[in-house]
Amino acid sequence: MIRMETLVNAHTTPLLAALAAQFPRSPAAARLKAAVLFHGVRWDDCLGPAGEWAFPSHMPYQAQPGDTLYKGQSRFYIPQIAQLDDDTHFRIRVKRESPFVIRQGDGPRSFVLAEGDAAVCSLTFEPKHAWAEALSADGTPMRATGLVQHGDMLVANVAPGCEYFVVPKAGVAQRTENLSCQFCLYGVPDQRMDALGQKLFEARVPERTLDRVSEACGHPETHARHLYLVGGSMLDMAAEGERYVQIARRLAEAGLADRYYIACGSGAIERRHMLELKDAGVRGACFNLEVWDPKQFERVCPGKARTVGRDRWLQSLEEAVDVFGRGNVMSAFVGGAELDGEGAMTSAEEAHESNVACGEHLIPRGIVPVYSIFWKLTGKERGVEPLYSLENFLRLNESHAAMRAAYSAKTNPDFFCRRCAYMEMEPDYD
Ligand code: SF4
Repeated sequence: MIRMETLVNAHTTPLLAALAAQFPRSPAAARLKAAVLFHGVRWDDCLGPAGEWAFPSHMPYQAQPGDTLYKGQSRFYIPQIAQLDDDTHFRIRVKRESPFVIRQGDGPRSFVLAEGDAAVCSLTFEPKHAWAEALSADGTPMRATGLVQHGDMLVANVAPGCEYFVVPKAGVAQRTENLSCQFCLYGVPDQRMDALGQKLFEARVPERTLDRVSEACGHPETHARHLYLVGGSMLDMAAEGERYVQIARRLAEAGLADRYYIACGSGAIERRHMLELKDAGVRGACFNLEVWDPKQFERVCPGKARTVGRDRWLQSLEEAVDVFGRGNVMSAFVGGAELDGEGAMTSAEEAHESNVACGEHLIPRGIVPVYSIFWKLTGKERGVEPLYSLENFLRLNESHAAMRAAYSAKTNPDFFCRRCAYMEMEPDYD
């Protein structure tokens, strides 16, 4: 078996060697993770059978010309998350031009990551846990209760439809406009809402939906430590706060606040609702601003900008530090979104300076910004990541890690750790 030391001690493969020379302040595993997040892995036939026992990708993989069909099928699930020996986790995406490939190793659940033909390290995949195959008391598959898992984090999304996709147009009956965040696919109001009983512009979640998701979270074999509450945004900030309070109270009744570190991943909400969430056992908050630069925030996140506004969003994050305490507040950003699309910044340097300014503003205030690498998932160029993304991502992570260390504001592993950060790298640096 190829051990992790292979990765730590050898920087002989061309891409990883170049990154080691350029980013010496980054841990070797973080450089590798960033590189594989950016480049993905080439198709290999081992991914089909592994998709049977591993935690599956969000969407089935569509076999491309030249791929071997799996059991005669052209659409099937592949693993979602790779796990290295040192607990580094990263999300898997198949990209045909990648220098990386994952191949079968010596054992049935043992695999090798290679750059070109040179082995880099051994890995396995995050397995499917028993809860994902179980049924709730009323016969609903637990994986259809709004619950997914990222490493050791359960993510409960019982109201996935985001109202920013269908904002009523002022003065025009029956007409809506799309003010969703430019990079977003997962908030589209669709059939998931029917199964969960979600109605747009209604805060309350059906009790039976909460019963089912509570039951799924309570399954003895989740192997999770964190429970993160998310959902589509609402146009009414107060209504969104009420929705999360309802959810948190139901989870607390089921005893889940004792078992998990529960965090609220809503949009910006009012202080009174944060206090009610805290009373219900919620311990952390993560209100995602997505893009730091004010002009780019308005362009990339028009719904957030118009319905809440950047200043109110930042105020809400500071209030969250008052309520939940330092170490318990984060805000997620999409590194590189400010460089994509019409009206984007035109220089990677400008984007870097903006994201450094983000850290300089938030970190001393007890708010940890967490960046995911920008994946181009929408538009004609989807799947083709802008070239600057990888270097920018590592450069940004080095800058923010230094700031977190200087302000004693490292990521709180109760909230966010190496086993759940599969698109972000802050815990890998801290
Ligand atoms: S707020 Fe933005 S990122 Fe979140 S679900 Fe809505 S459109 Fe998507």
